[in-house]
Amino acid sequence: MLVMCGVQRRWRRRPHLHKYGPNMMDADGLVHDGQLLRELLDDWTHSGSGSGLPLLVQRTIARQIQLHEIIGKGRYGEVWRGRWRGENVAVKIFHTREERSWFREAEVYQTVMLRHENILGFIAADNKDNGTWTQLWLVTDYHENGSLFDYLNRTVCDISGMVKLALSAASGLAHLHMEIVGTQGKPAIAHRDLKSKNMLVKKNGTCCIADLGLAVKHDSSTDYVDIAPNNRVGTKRYMAPEVLDNSINKDHFECFKRADIYSFGLVLWEIARRTSVGGLFKNAANIYSLLLLCMSFQWIFCSL
Ligand code: ADP
Ligand code: MG
Repeated sequence: MLVMCGVQRRWRRRPHLHKYGPNMMDADGLVHDGQLLRELLDDWTHSGSGSGLPLLVQRTIARQIQLHEIIGKGRYGEVWRGRWRGENVAVKIFHTREERSWFREAEVYQTVMLRHENILGFIAADNKDNGTWTQLWLVTDYHENGSLFDYLNRTVCDISGMVKLALSAASGLAHLHMEIVGTQGKPAIAHRDLKSKNMLVKKNGTCCIADLGLAVKHDSSTDYVDIAPNNRVGTKRYMAPEVLDNSINKDHFECFKRADIYSFGLVLWEIARRTSVGGLFKNAANIYSLLLLCMSFQWIFCSL
């Protein structure tokens, strides 16, 4: 019986070999380069089973993660770089008193059809009782370049780098805002806290939108906007005037989208300010106009 069990255990590992090829495996038979996680998520996304991994799988993954270093601190807790089976993941740990924010963010990330290359990839949510308090975890893809804010502080862009950042961020926002109609449809979502610190830069120089804790969804059949009951507000510096003076019509979803576009304009400005043309930082206003022009063309082509 023991020999049979041993053979069966070894056999169970073998499908990975066929699926990923031996050169992607380490000595323990684990898969490198985010492959296993990617495949797992892709399988579930394309299986028509809706959003994200099943809760049990999420919990299993979260409990196998080792935390390594803090990579960010926000208002609601800390963000860590963790390792899961040889892959880097980001773990956002919320203060216990921020349970609502954790729940809300996890809920928004698991919206059906939200997955998009320019929206931070969600992996798992878990609540762990460590004996003294409950830790609230949100596990996502890890991006070593960090936030767009940090990236722009240490990097000067050329025109193509600028367009790449701006267009990818715009694609992410367009996907978030877009309603997809159908049985597996996606509601329109407004972010409500867009800023360069809430966007991450991927290895390939494109952006993805993160921190969906304040997002609101729109149910077009009832015209209902689900503002979550947490105390969180956006970031003043990026707020549209109507949000600042509280005159925004909260029952009208379009108003939230417009306020996002205002904040997005400020992010474009930040990108343009760190763009160098021919080794010189030319007038930021000119570059900004150029950027807007490129984006308008792109939008026109996309909508044709
Ligand atoms: P908060 O809700 O507390 O503002 P965020 O989700 O905005 O938390 O994350 C705070 C910071 O942590 C970000 O500005 C970024 O620097 C870093 N960070 C967050 N998620 C990731 C990630 N997936 N990869 C790399 N860095 C990240
Ligand atoms: Mg944030």
